[in-house]
Amino acid sequence: MSKVYTKAEAKKLILRNLRALSTENKGKVTPEIYKSSGLKPSYSYIKEHFGWTNILREANIMPHPSMLTAEELIQQLKDSIKELGYIPTSTEYDKLKMKPDSDSLSKRGLTWSEAMNEAGFRTYGKPVKVKDRVCYNAGCYNQYTPEYEHHWYCDECQKDIRGKFISKLNDMKDANALRKIALQLATSNNSFRTITFIMGLDKN
Ligand SMILES: [Zn+2]
Repeated sequence: MSKVYTKAEAKKLILRNLRALSTENKGKVTPEIYKSSGLKPSYSYIKEHFGWTNILREANIMPHPSMLTAEELIQQLKDSIKELGYIPTSTEYDKLKMKPDSDSLSKRGLTWSEAMNEAGFRTYGKPVKVKDRVCYNAGCYNQYTPEYEHHWYCDECQKDIRGKFISKLNDMKDANALRKIALQLATSNNSFRTITFIMGLDKN
C-alpha cells in the first residue's frame, strides 16, 4: 500500500472487499479466494490485525467449516440436529448433507459419534425401532425416546409447560375464554404442542 491507512480505514476497506468477493463467489470467501484476488490489504495483514473468521463474521459471511473453531463446529452440529428434530444415524446424517459434514469433523480428529457426544447427544450404536427426538422447545437440546406420536417435549419442558398451563387456567376469570379453550382442547389431538399453541405458551 502506498497510502498509510489507519486501522479503522483498513477495516472499512477489508469489509468492502470481502462483501464484493462474497457476491462474486456466491457467499463463499476462503483465504485462497482472497489471496488470488490480489486485493489489499493482504490476507496475512487481515489475519494478524483482525482475525480471519472474526472479520468474515463482521461482513456477515459464513466462514468455511475448516475455519470454524472446534467449539463453533460443535454448536453448528447441535443446531443442525435440533432443527432436524431427531437423532439420525451417521449414514442418514451424510445422506441429508447436513452441516458440518463428516469431512469437516474428521479434519478436527473427530468421528461423527464423538462430535455428537460433545454436542450432548447419544448415538445409537445399534439398530433401533424408534428414533430419539430432540425437544421441540426453543433453546432446549434434550434428547429422549418418544413414547407416543405427539411426544414433542422432553420431560423437563413438559413439566414446565404443564405448570404454566395450570397457573394460566387458574388465573382465568372469564368463563367464555375458559369455555373457548376447553372446546379447542376437546377437538385437538391433546398434545403438549397443541396446548402450548392454544395457551400462547410457545413464546419463550
Ligand atoms: Zn426440553
